Order: sequence, then structure tokens, then C-alpha cells
Amino acid sequence: MSEKAVRNIVNLSGGKDSTALAIYLRDRVPDLEYVFCDTEKELSETYEYLDRLEAYLGTKVVRLKHDGRGFDHYLAVYGGYLPSARTRWCTKHLKIEVFERFVGREHVKSYVGIRADEARVGYISTKPNIKPVFPFKEDGITRQDVFRILDSSGLGVPDYYRWRSRSGCYFCFFQQNIEWVGLLENHPDLFAEASRYEKQATEGGKRYTWNGRESLEELARPERLASIKAEHARRIAYETRSAGQKTLMEVLDDALECEGERACAICDL
Ligand code: SF4
Repeated sequence: MSEKAVRNIVNLSGGKDSTALAIYLRDRVPDLEYVFCDTEKELSETYEYLDRLEAYLGTKVVRLKHDGRGFDHYLAVYGGYLPSARTRWCTKHLKIEVFERFVGREHVKSYVGIRADEARVGYISTKPNIKPVFPFKEDGITRQDVFRILDSSGLGVPDYYRWRSRSGCYFCFFQQNIEWVGLLENHPDLFAEASRYEKQATEGGKRYTWNGRESLEELARPERLASIKAEHARRIAYETRSAGQKTLMEVLDDALECEGERACAICDL
């Protein structure tokens, strides 16, 4: 297949890095396409951010959806077993397979927003017709640069950034405790929905929770909320003390940064 026939696609997650990448590449890569794999379990802030990005780019972000078999379908297929960092069936079925179906057998360069200051590998397609490309890594673009790109475009960061550092589903198990608190305070209906999934999953006898061993009902108790907030305040204070040249946004980013495993690049960039 000739070089001309290769499609160039940025896979947006609704997060800051892939958005900055879309802006960065807009005038560098011809015929660039923008796609977003919609799990239909995203935050409203993510959809708003994508709308604003579309307006900035002056072109459509194609919203890819599952083929009618969404999260609830797969939850039943997996016997009510909630996805987790170890069994990430949600990413596989609702993000990766959806993207691969869209691409089909065509040859594609898939642009990934992993930065030069990150050690992550990200989503590497096993399909030989999909070639991942890492422009931020190649060009030495760091987190500071990403904030600068977003600032100068006028887009800024997604609105959920006030309380959550990652894009993705509202119930994503990669969230930290303080982000669950943020979900409770900013989207109590979605917190209740996530809690309902836990209760439903637990009905069979075995206990399934999104957030380690603690259920969302337990996390939402007043004394537990107070302790999570106090811990987060301590972390912010620590990050502020050791901030050096960091901006306020970077301090918050570090305080919210997950210490454990991160979602794959297709969910969280
Ligand atoms: S954002 Fe989280 S819950 Fe949603 S598909 Fe990705 S890993 Fe799964």
C-alpha cells in the first residue's frame, strides 16, 4: 500500500495530553482524523471539552460507539465481575476493539499523546496495520509544554481537572480516593450509579468493589470523607512546599497523580 493510503488518526481520550496532541499536530500532519471511543460512561465535562476542541479545530471529532453491546452487556458476559486494573475488559471491548473495528484493514498511523517525561508504553496495537506514533516523545514535549499548548489555544484543561486528573469512565477503578470524593460532590447521581453497580455485582455473594477493598458506601461515610480530604490537603501542602518552578496546575496534577498503575493511553491521556 502506498504512503498516500495511510490514514493519520489521533485517538482522543478527552484528557489534556491527547487534546494537546491534536492541537500540536493540526498544522503538522495533513488529513488528520480525530476519533473518540465513547463508552457512554464518560463525564459530561469530557463531552463538553470535546465539543470545544471541535470548535477550535474546525473539524469533527468522530465519536465511535460500541456495536450495541455496551458496558452492561459485557458486565453480564463477565458474570457481574466489575473490571479492574488486572482484568481490564472494559478497555478491551469498549475502547480498543471499537477503534480496531473502525480502522478495519486499512493502514493507519495512530498518534499517541504519551509525553517525553513519561515512562508509559501506552496502547500498542497488536494489529500489524496500525502503527503507533509518539510525537511528544520524539519532540521532547513535557507536561509543562502540554499546559502551554492548551493555554495558548484558549482551551485550557477539561473542567473535571478541578477534582480529577484523568479522563475516562466516571466509575474508573484507576481513580484515587479523593477523585471518588470529587465524583460524589460534583456528580452525586453518577456516584450513586457507581455504587449501584457494586451492590448489583455483590448480590451473587462475592463482594466486588471499584476501589480496592472499600465499597463506595463505606467511602461516603462522613468520617471517611473527612479523612480522605485531610490526606489530600496534606499532599497538596507537600507538593506546594516542594514545588520549585511548578505552576499551581502542576502542583494539583502531582497531588492527584495516581501512584499505582495508570489506565492505558486510549483511556487516559
Ligand atoms: S476509563 Fe477506566 S473504566 Fe473506562 S474503559 Fe478505561 S480503564 Fe475501563
